[in-house]
Amino acid sequence: MTIVDTPERRQLRELTRAFVTKEVLPYLDDWERAGEVPRSLHETAAKIGLLGIGFPESVGGSGGDLLDSILVTEEVIRSGGSSGLIAALFTHGIALPHMVASQDDGLIERYVRPTLTGTMIGALAITEPDGGSDVAGIRTCARRDGDHYVVNGSKTYITSGVRSDFVTTAVCTNLPGSGSLSLLVIEKGTPGFTVGRRLEKLGWHCSDTAELSFVDVRVPVANRIGPEDTGFLAIMQQFATERLSLATQAYATAQRCVELATRWCRDRSTFGRPLASRQLVRHRLAAMHTRAEAARVYVHDVAERVAAGEPVVTEVAMAKNVAVAACDFVVDAALQLHGGFGYLRDAEVERHYRDARILGIGGGTTEIMNEIIAKGMGL
Ligand SMILES: Cc1cc2nc3c(=O)[nH]c(=O)nc-3n(C[C@H](O)[C@H](O)[C@H](O)COP(=O)(O)OP(=O)(O)OC[C@H]3O[C@@H](n4cnc5c(N)ncnc54)[C@H](O)[C@@H]3O)c2cc1C
Repeated sequence: MTIVDTPERRQLRELTRAFVTKEVLPYLDDWERAGEVPRSLHETAAKIGLLGIGFPESVGGSGGDLLDSILVTEEVIRSGGSSGLIAALFTHGIALPHMVASQDDGLIERYVRPTLTGTMIGALAITEPDGGSDVAGIRTCARRDGDHYVVNGSKTYITSGVRSDFVTTAVCTNLPGSGSLSLLVIEKGTPGFTVGRRLEKLGWHCSDTAELSFVDVRVPVANRIGPEDTGFLAIMQQFATERLSLATQAYATAQRCVELATRWCRDRSTFGRPLASRQLVRHRLAAMHTRAEAARVYVHDVAERVAAGEPVVTEVAMAKNVAVAACDFVVDAALQLHGGFGYLRDAEVERHYRDARILGIGGGTTEIMNEIIAKGMGL
């Protein structure tokens, strides 16, 4: 099964492609050097309805479901964008869903609507310096004090953490490491909340990544998402969407690299003949295309099942691993086929090669996905 093509979805693809061509491609190299995308890009994307895809109109979104979000991600990368751009521009895809699910009107008015109009930027902070895979082991704590929580701790590797106006933050509301977590929305500018460091990375250069510090930060109880101690469940419920987005970034990056490598191998001649005329090269391109296509079809199948409300936690983990493995294989082969040029900043495959490395780490590592799959097998 694959995502059903409708006239609306074809229009959404065209809208996304036009946005990337006009608003992204001329500037992406500059943003990569600057280490972030401008706020104005969020506003532009919001104005044409792209930022709100996958969020209901009742909270300020543009409507559509998970499958539409996947199509946007796919098209951004296939049009010459990058997974780094997706991380930077669509961070709200991980920062907002818990608030939307909680149906808390106050939080929706203060954070969800302004973010979907592009005037606010949000981030999601779960990972801590002591570890990211063990979510239940979070040590950043929130102690209740009247109408406030007092938060102490630190977070790291937080996407859009430098630019964000608020951070959906996982905190321990019981004994540290007990797994009794809650989610608090913490605003920039709250005394004691600081961005410690902008982190330098292998890839995703246009996406800012931060270390965050909380020292006696007073956060209103009204900024808690859902009831106290329900944060772990809320985080796990939203992981499916994040993991499928990362899986989409992986197969779309692979598809884009197949296109780039195929074009290169047609144009480049060695020993008097185009590379694409050599059987070894043709078979390599065929294997790359096969891996990318198989990953795309499987991710679409699992996404359809998630959108239909099926409990497919194991399949989501398998989809992420399948797509990441395909992507790793393809970006490596695509760079190799480009020869020395593939290693240069001027080559688009060079960026995809670096950007792709995070996809098997973020949103739960390949090893953690394997743990989930093993559990699903009854092991
Ligand atoms: C660019 C970037 C952006 C990110 N954005 C965000 C963000 O926006 N918000 C956020 O909260 N986090 C974010 N992260 C953090 C990311 O989710 C974590 O890095 C990831 O979950 C892994 O956690 P860790 O780095 O602490 O590794 P660890 O948990 O310390 O794991 C280290 C290694 O051990 C392996 N391992 C761990 N446990 C086991 C086990 N039981 N069995 C076998 N192997 C195991 C892991 O797979 C990994 O290979 C980001 C990271 C990066 C690099």
